[in-house]
Amino acid sequence: MDFQFHNALTRGKEAFAPRDPSHLRMYVCGPTVYDLAHLGNARPVVVFDVLARLLRREFPRVTYVRNITDVDDKINARSRESGEPISAITARTTADFHRDMAALGTLPPDVEPTATGHIAEMIALIEKLIANGHAYAAEGHVLFSVPSFGEYGKLSGRSPEDLLAGARIDVAPYKRDAGDFVLWKPSDDTTPGWNSPWGYGRPGWHIECSAMAWKHLGEEFDIHGGGHDLIFPHHENEVAQSVCAFPGTGYARFWLHNGMLLVDGEKMSKSLGNFLTVRDILARGPWAGEAFRLLLLKTHYRQALDFSYERLDEAKAELDDYYAFLSRGIAAEEGEESKALAAWVLEPLADDLNTPLALARLRDVLTLGNVAAIGGSATAALSRLGRSEAPTAGQVVAAIAEAASVLGLPAADPKVWRQGGADDAAEIEAAIEARIAARKARNWAEADRIRDDLIAKGILLEDGPKGTTWRRA
Ligand SMILES: [Zn+2]
Repeated sequence: MDFQFHNALTRGKEAFAPRDPSHLRMYVCGPTVYDLAHLGNARPVVVFDVLARLLRREFPRVTYVRNITDVDDKINARSRESGEPISAITARTTADFHRDMAALGTLPPDVEPTATGHIAEMIALIEKLIANGHAYAAEGHVLFSVPSFGEYGKLSGRSPEDLLAGARIDVAPYKRDAGDFVLWKPSDDTTPGWNSPWGYGRPGWHIECSAMAWKHLGEEFDIHGGGHDLIFPHHENEVAQSVCAFPGTGYARFWLHNGMLLVDGEKMSKSLGNFLTVRDILARGPWAGEAFRLLLLKTHYRQALDFSYERLDEAKAELDDYYAFLSRGIAAEEGEESKALAAWVLEPLADDLNTPLALARLRDVLTLGNVAAIGGSATAALSRLGRSEAPTAGQVVAAIAEAASVLGLPAADPKVWRQGGADDAAEIEAAIEARIAARKARNWAEADRIRDDLIAKGILLEDGPKGTTWRRA
């Protein structure tokens, strides 16, 4: 595959290859663990999960690092409000994050460093910055000197003058320059802290990512990802710190940013009442995690994405179509043909992760499978595929499975999906057994009563040559 990604550094699409073809390195900013993940938090996790899966398929070794920010003033504030100890908040929120992201079909990153586990690296980086003349200590703080770095603003496209415009209000007296940002700040006995050459204190947010990326990926690496809202100041400051700590290096070579997530056309906010957590979505049903994943991937990652429950239901209906086909029990036929079909589906991902086109092609492959299994016209799908002969249904089953290993869907057990992943399955199976027994005893009235009962509960029975199967309406 020839990869091209939009690189924020150059503001255009560029051919991508890892510096070391035997080891691709990628870093993505992870959550600050003080509250449940909201829908906007989930988007980069799903987007970069697809990217990591794609890259792992192509390169022999991929190290994907996504951190946990577990020291931050938002966490301290939450602890003060609720009285819950900081360690309890971060442990619980990290576990919630893992559970929610797993429900969206995302795989864990290869390394998930915590900020509190990398204080020594942060102190070492800050010492380098002071030694190199890019940082200074003042009143228990250490500040990065923005004017000391001529390339500051290159990533975000903002000039140091722009940056100062917003910062004029209430500039701390210990700053030499209004745009200088905090690398280290003093702690008291109400805030977490560590001993350092500058006194008891804690790191600023930006230095955390520079230190964790350095520890796990080295001074330079291939891809840095995150939400578009992080470009400034967070990513700009990461670049400044890392490039100034290691002169002559460039930190990340490619910067990929996902667009924002709206709800019903508006920016999500607690005051508008449209603030949704991943938990809110998952509560809709066992299908909701995968449907939300599909919804996310149907929009290109760089575009703004508009969430609505209507779109979530549409995504579910689309997945229903895949599972209706897959639940036919057709055996997968793996081989050249299925590989070619899967490659056709996945090919657009190499072009700046074009998930909408990959999903449209997957849909075409499904159509071909349905035509092979039950008949119908495959003309349009075949012409897009650029061939005249249709694959077999078994080849389609194998191709869908291979594409799913990168897209992360459809990934459920078709039977469990169609039965709604419910816990009343045993009860329903028992009712079906009772109906079979009634029919054997030629007690038609009883058999019909059981069937009508099940229909009333939204359970549809399908009598076929292999016996009776059921699904939810
Ligand atoms: Zn970061």
